[in-house]
Amino acid sequence: MAGLTRLTIAEARDGLRARRFSARELAEAHNLAVEKARPLNAMVLETADRALDMADASDKRLADGEGSALEGIPLAVKDLFCTDGVRTTAGSRILGDFVPPYESTVTANLWRAGAVMLGKANMDEFAMGSSNETSCFGPVENPWRRSGDDRPIVPGGSSGGSAAIVAARAALGAVGTDTGGSIRQPASFTGLVGLKPTYGRCSRWGIVAFASSLDQAGPLTRTVRDAAVMLAAMSGRDPRDSTSADAPVPDFEAALDGGIGGLRVGVPGEYRMDGLPAGIDALWRRGIRWLEDAGAEIREVSLPHTAYALPAYYIVAPAEASSNLARYDGVRYGLRVEGEDIVDMYERTRAEGFGPEVRRRVMIGAYVLSAGYYDAYYLRAQKVRALIVRDFRNAFEDVDALLTPTAPSEAFAIGDKSGDPIAMYLNDVFTVPASMAGLPAISVPAGLSDAGLPLGLQLIGRWFDEVTVLRAAGALERAAGFVAEPEPWWEAAR
Ligand code: GLN
Repeated sequence: MAGLTRLTIAEARDGLRARRFSARELAEAHNLAVEKARPLNAMVLETADRALDMADASDKRLADGEGSALEGIPLAVKDLFCTDGVRTTAGSRILGDFVPPYESTVTANLWRAGAVMLGKANMDEFAMGSSNETSCFGPVENPWRRSGDDRPIVPGGSSGGSAAIVAARAALGAVGTDTGGSIRQPASFTGLVGLKPTYGRCSRWGIVAFASSLDQAGPLTRTVRDAAVMLAAMSGRDPRDSTSADAPVPDFEAALDGGIGGLRVGVPGEYRMDGLPAGIDALWRRGIRWLEDAGAEIREVSLPHTAYALPAYYIVAPAEASSNLARYDGVRYGLRVEGEDIVDMYERTRAEGFGPEVRRRVMIGAYVLSAGYYDAYYLRAQKVRALIVRDFRNAFEDVDALLTPTAPSEAFAIGDKSGDPIAMYLNDVFTVPASMAGLPAISVPAGLSDAGLPLGLQLIGRWFDEVTVLRAAGALERAAGFVAEPEPWWEAAR
């Protein structure tokens, strides 16, 4: 049946319940679309047979009138989530052909809600990157291209494969992770909705750890409603992750029915940075007007420590990464390169198994945690982090949500920034502050750049107030009316 890959999750759910098509038909259409999308290099493992088996099971439950919230919905999974019996690599050579004997809590929740797994999505190695160029499987290509220009561009990162496969209409949604922007920035680059929930909303159990105090799972979807539907299925307290919160999980989808009359939306002046492209600044202003027209009250707010968020993040995140990645020693998982003795074996394994960006992070992390520099860097960064949290807490006394651009640029060409780590890190300048504070934040596709590439706007909310974030995002989505889609050039590229 044609058109099945063009549905939203909510439409597909309703169509399945009304038996207008079967979960099997939906899975078959998506398996085919995933196959056609291979030129994008968005998937590192296709699980077509598993998808059909899961779809058949969904059809049985639907026939019995049982179906859960995501019954029969085909999704892609970032290859950072451990999937029982299905190879999980984190985009790294060092994990080799690691096949986890367990399922991450978030993916288990999705399967329990009836979702169907299409496969594992490409990503930056250990989720370190903003362009999906650090993957050991090679870069992902953005389905979008600049108008009149065939040069390949990046989908953003680190959840680049997840974003590309949804933007290419080959999955109805995907589950990614966001440590400093890895859901929101690729969403902005590919014309999708990307939601990073409050730290603790979703369990981190079974997600390969990058920076444990920042990592959060979240959905990449085509609509705000779909993000709400996926988040509800993913969320909840998990006794196996002590940082997962025992907070009630509201009906996120129902939250979308409310308007935003009287909502106080803050515009942080510190985000108006030098060198912000005029197109992004103009879009931001348009976004402010849209929310105002929808009944929101706009207020200027100040987040004085914004400029320090990025440098502090690039101390905290590598510090945690260097500690988390110590476990890859050639003994427990994946790759082992034999050496003269055990230390030599460790060194050779890690030198060969980790790519250059991961090695850089491990070295930065070990340095800032070393005895002589701990106070000067790590401890200082933690203090800055506390100030960033305080900035947000103060702002949220006056406003209910904040509106900012998602990223300081549109998608760039593959290779453009891969030689310059600092230029790459600057991608995260608008997403990192909410990550440092653990706040929920969403990117909503809001317009096209002069070159015809998607641009997103970001809404940040109070801790555990995804309801307000989603409601405001819904208003933004309605006003923006973003309907542009990439031309499916990859279908001809085969
Ligand atoms: N680009 C950021 C980094 O490289 C964020 C990555 C992420 O959110 N996983 O650390």
